[in-house]
Amino acid sequence: MLTSYKTINHKVDVLVVGAGGSGLRATLGSAELGLKTACISKVYPTRSHTVAAQGGIGAALGNMGDDTWQWHMYDTVKGSDWLGDQDAIEYLTYNAPQAVIELEHYGMPFTRTKDGKIYQRPFGGHIQKNGEGEPAMRACAAADRTGHALLHTLYQQAIKHNVEFFVEYFVLDLLKDIDGKYCGAVAWCLEDGSIHIFHSHITILATGGYGKTFFSSTSAHICTGDGNAMALRSELPLSDMEFIQFHPTGLYGIGVLITEGARGEGGFLTNCNGEKFMEKYAPSVKDLASRDVVSRAITIEVNEGRGCGTEKDHAMLHLEHIDSSILNKRLPGVIEHAKIFTNLDATNEPIPIVPTVHYNMGGIPTNYKTEVLDSNQQDKEKIAEGLLAIGEAACVSVHGANRLGTNSLIDLVVFGKAASITAKEKIINYKTYSNIDKNYLNKILSRFDSLKNNNGNQKAGKIRLDMQKIMQKHCGVFRNKEILEEGIKKMKDIYESFKDISISDKSMIFNTELVEALELDNLISQSIVTLSSAVNRNESRGAHAREDYPERNDKEWLAHSLVWLNEEGNTKFDTRPVHLKTLTNNAQSIPPKKRVY
Ligand code: FAD
Repeated sequence: MLTSYKTINHKVDVLVVGAGGSGLRATLGSAELGLKTACISKVYPTRSHTVAAQGGIGAALGNMGDDTWQWHMYDTVKGSDWLGDQDAIEYLTYNAPQAVIELEHYGMPFTRTKDGKIYQRPFGGHIQKNGEGEPAMRACAAADRTGHALLHTLYQQAIKHNVEFFVEYFVLDLLKDIDGKYCGAVAWCLEDGSIHIFHSHITILATGGYGKTFFSSTSAHICTGDGNAMALRSELPLSDMEFIQFHPTGLYGIGVLITEGARGEGGFLTNCNGEKFMEKYAPSVKDLASRDVVSRAITIEVNEGRGCGTEKDHAMLHLEHIDSSILNKRLPGVIEHAKIFTNLDATNEPIPIVPTVHYNMGGIPTNYKTEVLDSNQQDKEKIAEGLLAIGEAACVSVHGANRLGTNSLIDLVVFGKAASITAKEKIINYKTYSNIDKNYLNKILSRFDSLKNNNGNQKAGKIRLDMQKIMQKHCGVFRNKEILEEGIKKMKDIYESFKDISISDKSMIFNTELVEALELDNLISQSIVTLSSAVNRNESRGAHAREDYPERNDKEWLAHSLVWLNEEGNTKFDTRPVHLKTLTNNAQSIPPKKRVY
């Protein structure tokens, strides 16, 4: 098999798959630590999805009001509905302020206060004094283009450190050695059609989320969770896949995000009667409740006939009471998006919004050092040697059942850096490169080859649309056993129809038809494990709202779910205990209690 493709070999210390915020931070960190580092991306690095992040990056700098990292930790644990691992959350929130200052020193152009400090705004679920105070000013922002500023800063720094980038290379799968240790990846160069074998001591997966499993999402088209699917194919489990975040304010009919920063700056929601309905659902913080709470509130308003518009199927976001000069300065992207996509002037009229898929809390399970977990019955914390995972692809788990806004960007940089530190520590033990398992490599290339040469009757675009509609209908804000099981049945048909896919372009150079088919295969596997995990968890927690099990059930379900998928498309489940203990004595463990805002 190897002989039929032009192959090129590479040897590096660290291979980073993904050039979003997490991948670039790990790449930069590894290079700074003197490790020979390569970074692969299927798109130009600054086109990675992180560029779209808007509202801010969370860190208790206390520039614009009292704040402490312990309050940030409390909010994150509560936001996660107690499913987040508290050792990892302590690591995140403790290291957050330093991580933001590092970004500042790398040159990130933050918005400034009058006295030159980094500007911070409130965001949903971030509150002072362990949830008892006022909204905390914690989201460090570069206007409403924070991800853009972050990604460009990190890319420029990585270039400065002579990192080798492999841009527009599509990673097919992870490599293992003859002892089962992860030792690199196989990639297809889209530009010249060659196949590249990357042999590395450490491989870091930073491939982002899988929002494109759904019909309406704020994700870019490249968010197909390729790394998650690679993990599944290499017989690793994924964790907490049932937890899909719906962002309350997707632009109605379009799906484009209107940042939570809009409500942070004083925006509020109304129903068709003009009622500020969040007062009913979250009397204390109202429109600044966490995302799962606000998304459910909008859905209930719509379901009970109080939706807006002729179809009564959305709510309204009001910004028109805020001074237009402030809006133009702090939320220029929101004003622009509202104008471009709905032709309305948000400084004068309300914006129609609806909950839209936005973030994946689940992913590749790791510990706080970013080591991937290959859990089994005897050892739930067993480590998959040679493999680390970070960013939205990973489930550390700091977000648990519901991520707070601004906590993804800080997760990217804190754990991106942590991955480089772990890589450095581990590489000391790897004196020589291990032997690649040739059979495993041939299996990867056979899969690629047989997909490329498939001459069935189905087109990727049609199968993808059917898959997305099933996910939208059967895995929404509210779920129940019946609707989920019907979704699984339909998704099994999708799984079968993929075997009948037709690839008409047989070339190796910029074959976008083949790229789409590879991505679709990855999306289908994640759709199956998401639906199956959702039917498996018989409780409501965070973003997982089961109509037939409306209460949280800590007795049976204070646990991470683990799911495996075999080659026949069948799932297997287990659980892993949540880490309720903290990492150090600087923080106190936060025992589970009822989550109200
Ligand atoms: P990504 O940025 O998605 O990067 C993934 C990388 O992997 C890319 O470089 C891609 O090319 C590469 N890749 C994937 N598959 C392959 C493959 N097979 N081969 C080669 N390369 C591959 N979070 C916040 O905290 N604050 C915010 O204000 C905020 N605003 C947001 C606004 C929007 C509109 C959206 C959609 C999200 C927002 N988020 C925000 C969430 C946050 O932006 C994402 O969770 C985060 O950027 C994900 O970063 P990442 O590094 O994990 O992955």
